[in-house]
Formats: sequence, C-alpha cells, structure tokens
Amino acid sequence: MNLREYIRDVPDFPKQGVVFKDITTALKDPEALAEIIINLSGHFESKLPDIVVGIESRGFILGPAIAKELGAGFVPARKEGKLPEKTESKDYDTEYSRDTLEIHQDAINDGERVLIVDDLLATGGTAEATASIVEALGGKVVGFGFMIELSFLNGREKIANYDVKVLETY
Ligand code: 5GP
Repeated sequence: MNLREYIRDVPDFPKQGVVFKDITTALKDPEALAEIIINLSGHFESKLPDIVVGIESRGFILGPAIAKELGAGFVPARKEGKLPEKTESKDYDTEYSRDTLEIHQDAINDGERVLIVDDLLATGGTAEATASIVEALGGKVVGFGFMIELSFLNGREKIANYDVKVLETY
C-alpha cells in the first residue's frame, strides 16, 4: 500500500504558508495503521530497545503501539510543566517556535536502550532535544522512527549519527 495516499496536506496550518501533513487520515485506516506500526517496529527489532520514548503529542499515538510490538516499555517526552515528578529538560527550536521538552528523571535507567518515536521529522530540533535528554539520563539512543520526513528542512543533519527510519519522505 502507498502510505502517501493516506496522508492529508492542510495548507496554511498552523500558520500562513505552512503545508501541514495531517496523519489522522492514515491512523484512521486499519490497514495503514497496521503498516505504520509493523514497519517502524520491524526496523528496530534487532536493536532490542528497552524503552520507546514518544514525543508529545503525536509520538504518544505511535509510541505505545510500537513499544508493544517490540516488548518494550513506553515513556512520554512532554512539553514543559506537564510531568508531575522531577524532570530532565531541554530547550529547542522548532519550525514554528521555541519550546521545552521534559522526561521524568527516573523514567530511564543507566544503560537502557531507547528508541525515539514521533510522527514527523522537520528541522530535527525536537528529535535532537529528546536524544539529548535521554542521553543526559544515561540512556543509549538506538534510533529514531518517524512516519514522515520533510527532507527540505534538513532535520537529518541534526541526528546524522543515529539509525533513522522514515516511512515517507517529502
Ligand atoms: P522539528 O523539531 O523537526 O522542526 O519539528 C517536528 C515536530 O513538529 C514533531 O513533533 C511534529 O509532530 C511537528 N510537526 C511539524 N510539522 C508538522 C506537520 O506538517 N505535520 C505534523 N503531523 N507534525 C508536524
């Protein structure tokens, strides 16, 4: 199946001039959803991750399903102020704004193998910040899984030293 047919382009969202890739139309289709989860988890089976970190908020949709396939646990990387316990945090720039991500300090143990998952790689700021939090906590990042890469924004350069699996590149 061609996943691209299930991804919807929404012009001028969230602001004028941006064409937003809407994944809800793909998630809604049972076949497309299964293919997304199987293809992303399949790529990382041999990496034996202990934890899948999903990035707020669409990484929360894909992450737990991928973690379940891989026999791993799920840990959320959340926007500032949402997690109740002590956190490790990192500021970063996105396509649209400056933001902060946080992970609970006790969510990742020293030496644990971590797969990071999000729906889309754009400038790579979000992905890079997440990896730096995971590594600050002693985790080993075994790779990144994305449904979509916007290659014209060159996000890959920021995570060039990692195994990156993408299902659709624009
Ligand atoms: P980056 O930090 O790589 O510039 O931005 C990636 C983050 O922004 C991801 O968390 C992703 O969910 C979100 N994002 C940016 N553009 C889009 C888009 O067109 N579609 C979707 N679904 N997410 C986007």
